[in-house]
Amino acid sequence: MSSRFTKGGCHCGNVRIEVTGEPIAAMHCHCVDCQKITGAAAVAVALFPPANVNMTKGAPDTYTTLGESGEKIHRTFCGVCGSLIMGKPEAMPGFVTVMLPALDDSSFIRKMVHIYTDHIKSWTVIPKDAQQFRKMPLWVKPVKGRDT
Ligand SMILES: [Zn+2]
Ligand SMILES: [Zn+2]
Repeated sequence: MSSRFTKGGCHCGNVRIEVTGEPIAAMHCHCVDCQKITGAAAVAVALFPPANVNMTKGAPDTYTTLGESGEKIHRTFCGVCGSLIMGKPEAMPGFVTVMLPALDDSSFIRKMVHIYTDHIKSWTVIPKDAQQFRKMPLWVKPVKGRDT
């Protein structure tokens, strides 16, 4: 297992996290919920096993919605500055989603796929060779880190 150790947190510094190991996958999610909640065209996330993500500082708030599966998705954010930190989809207990912009350094991510592409905004540009999925793919490709 990789010894990669990445720190991150919210904009104001109230909430800090630590992530170990390589992500299972990394993706831009274009679903409507992610767009509305983040105010962005898409949210960039990496999937990590839950045991690999630790909240080391702060007591973030949680916003819970129902996902497409009908099961809950818990999104963790800083109650002070509003930064979204991570998400826990109950339908997929094998991973949590960590917002890549929350990490202090996410330059180890080399490949992103695009999901929920039916909801890509007319003004969003996707690279022609990008791998796209209309929904959450049933499988996720491993993401190679810089040193693997
Ligand atoms: Zn904050
Ligand atoms: Zn989404």
